[in-house]
Amino acid sequence: MENQQSTIDNQQSTISIVIPVFNEEENLEELLERCLNTCTGMERDFEIILVDDGSSDQSRNMITKAAEQNPGRIVGLLLNRNYGQHSAIMAGFAEARGDIVITLDADLQNPPEEIQKLVKKADEGFDVVGSVRMHRRDTLFRRWASLMVNKVVQMSTGVDMHDYGCMLRAYNRRVVDAMLQCHERSTFIPVLANSFAGATAEIDVDHAERSAGDSKYGLWKLINLQFDLLTSMTTFPLRLLNLLGVIISALGVGFGIFLFVMRLIYGPEWAAAGVFTLFAILFIFIGAQFLGMGMLGEYIGRIYSDVRARPRYFVESVMGESKLKK
Ligand code: UDP
Ligand code: MG
Repeated sequence: MENQQSTIDNQQSTISIVIPVFNEEENLEELLERCLNTCTGMERDFEIILVDDGSSDQSRNMITKAAEQNPGRIVGLLLNRNYGQHSAIMAGFAEARGDIVITLDADLQNPPEEIQKLVKKADEGFDVVGSVRMHRRDTLFRRWASLMVNKVVQMSTGVDMHDYGCMLRAYNRRVVDAMLQCHERSTFIPVLANSFAGATAEIDVDHAERSAGDSKYGLWKLINLQFDLLTSMTTFPLRLLNLLGVIISALGVGFGIFLFVMRLIYGPEWAAAGVFTLFAILFIFIGAQFLGMGMLGEYIGRIYSDVRARPRYFVESVMGESKLKK
């Protein structure tokens, strides 16, 4: 009896699965098969939205074909060029119609089977359901980098989540609509979502090696992403800069007084011997200035691109039609 009740309830919320795809021809087939199996197993309306982020391999054709072969279940969204993972997901969000929207990587590092767990949790009424990768299969450097990032994000958003790097997540309609109203160009979706999320939950999920192909994030893209994350989230670094400036100045003043006192006690010879110390201080100041300018540049660069207010992406064409109501 209780079982029946819960299936009826479950049928009320429909599911959209948004998957950004960038040169993932080796993974698409298995991905789709496993996603379709998982979704049909859940016995409710769903749509799988594949966003092609300007792939140059067979991914485009495969997505088009999949959309044709699975009308009402798979929707292909082809962007005209590579806009980056998070912009691609935003494009998918704009197209998604489900009550619960799930994001997933195309490389099968997050098993699609875990979607069921996410949906179950989201049905309990959480705005955002995150996931924590158990037995993470990434290089030590990557794991260390994300540990740092997670700590900083936790501190500045005040939302206690532990794994922002894991894109296997569920968002409810409210949060997705809120995100779609954000027009800044540099977005990091899990953080953006949390700035609108009320109740959040986390579940443990499996993590596998990338099933085929290479990571689409080179060092440069990764660095860029970290800066997006930092500046999209907070202006705290700017405040830190002020603080740093104050501390360095105070030290400078303190040292000046110290030099002055020593000069009074030991006479002018001693002070002349301190010339090199003054050089050292000068270098500290120059360093601080460069750091400050660099940080300001990061923000100004983003202000610049936001002021230009270019659309985040252009959809070239929409393949197939979802049977879910808009
Ligand atoms: N991706 C994308 N556009 C990009 C880079 C990546 O759509 O410019 C997609 C990619 O196809 C994959 C997901 O984003 O589905 C995560 O990329 P990847 O697995 O390479 O990242 P990693 O797991 O190495 O962090
Ligand atoms: Mg991956």
